[in-house]
Amino acid sequence: MIKVVKFGGSSLASAEQFKKVGKIIRKEESRRYVIPSAPGKRTPDDTKVTDMLYSCYGLAILDDEYEEEFENQLMAIKTRYDEIIKGLELSISLDDEFKTIRTNFSKKIGRDYAASRGEYLNGIIMAAYLGYEFIDAADVIKFDEEGNFDGVKTNEILSARLAETKQAVIPGFYGSMPDGKVKTFSRGGSDVTGSIVAKAVHADMYENWTDVSGFLIADPRVVNNPKAIDVITYRELRELSYMGATVLHEDAIFPVRKEGIPINIRNTNSPEDKGTLIVEDTCRKPRFVITGVTGKKDFASITVEKAMMNSEVGFCKKVLQVFEDNAISIEHMPSGIDTMTIFVHQDEFEEKEQKVIAGIHRAVEPDFLELESDLALIAVVGRGMRATRGTSGRIFSALAHANVNVKMIDQGSSEMNIIIGVRNHDFNAAINAIYDIFVNTMI
Ligand code: ASP
Repeated sequence: MIKVVKFGGSSLASAEQFKKVGKIIRKEESRRYVIPSAPGKRTPDDTKVTDMLYSCYGLAILDDEYEEEFENQLMAIKTRYDEIIKGLELSISLDDEFKTIRTNFSKKIGRDYAASRGEYLNGIIMAAYLGYEFIDAADVIKFDEEGNFDGVKTNEILSARLAETKQAVIPGFYGSMPDGKVKTFSRGGSDVTGSIVAKAVHADMYENWTDVSGFLIADPRVVNNPKAIDVITYRELRELSYMGATVLHEDAIFPVRKEGIPINIRNTNSPEDKGTLIVEDTCRKPRFVITGVTGKKDFASITVEKAMMNSEVGFCKKVLQVFEDNAISIEHMPSGIDTMTIFVHQDEFEEKEQKVIAGIHRAVEPDFLELESDLALIAVVGRGMRATRGTSGRIFSALAHANVNVKMIDQGSSEMNIIIGVRNHDFNAAINAIYDIFVNTMI
């Protein structure tokens, strides 16, 4: 059994947190490959080391007059690591590493290099603490000349390297380009590294340790104390993440998904919780008809009406072309017999609205055009909805009882998600009504 274990920044923010992580890793021999993030926040108003590094590098590339501030910031970063080393009673020193970092910063080596040092240094400490081998991600995670992740090359190098390594720490978040230059993934990218490593070693499980016990059915800022999701499929997760649920980096799904490796989201501060298991598919019956309910606010809608529009070849294409010409992305597009409605992000649309209206008039000569703003889209997602009759009926009667007016309904043909448009100010009431009817009212 092989497990790849990734620990997020808050799990590694201090020596105390490192000790919890050490305990978790030592508990199971299968936890052989470890991906650390950089130290995160110790308290809500603390600063992540990655952000400290970005800021410090920002000073390094300015004139000499910022030198003192630069030195202070670099020292503050070093202090964070030194405190961890001391708290773990390790005999290593990062003095030489910091000398190299200072030299490289003064050569203006690049922002990605600067940010990557957070994971790199944490990896050195983690390897020393566990007695695992340290592998610099720059040697095994590869990007091409354009800076795109090179999955084929990486898999080749990484699987060969790890085949001869029983236990290793590979820092998350970065790799290197063909010229050796360090390149990072986007923020939160250690999740992606973990997934790439899991694929390379054909892991049985990719454990992603963070500070929550998995995904929740709804956002706790909207629903009071929502229940956790036990098992979720990759497709459901995509739907929920797209509409706002965050825990895992979006790109972290792809490498493991191709290999059928499950991801288990776990809580470092509560390791006995089972967390959420993310799988390709499952026969296990979901606990509730819905897996999750989430949404986003601040959309605008443009309704285009024209008699007999459905018999006009290319009508939709011409309307959509207007949005493309104005570089506006489209979120949803429900249609009727003589109408089509386009949902867009309000902030993207607002300043271009008159151009879009004129464009649509020119393109299709509609009978009528109507704009609405301050709309929210809510996604109700669940593989269980397919097998259950009356799901939409329950949703809409719950919304009616909560006095929420439904502006739009769109059910994907997979029957795995229903998108509902409501007014922004009904957003919380709508999510609570849906959560209530499926989770609190078990019938
Ligand atoms: N340390 C990086 C960040 O703060 C990457 C990560 O934590 O995954 O975004």
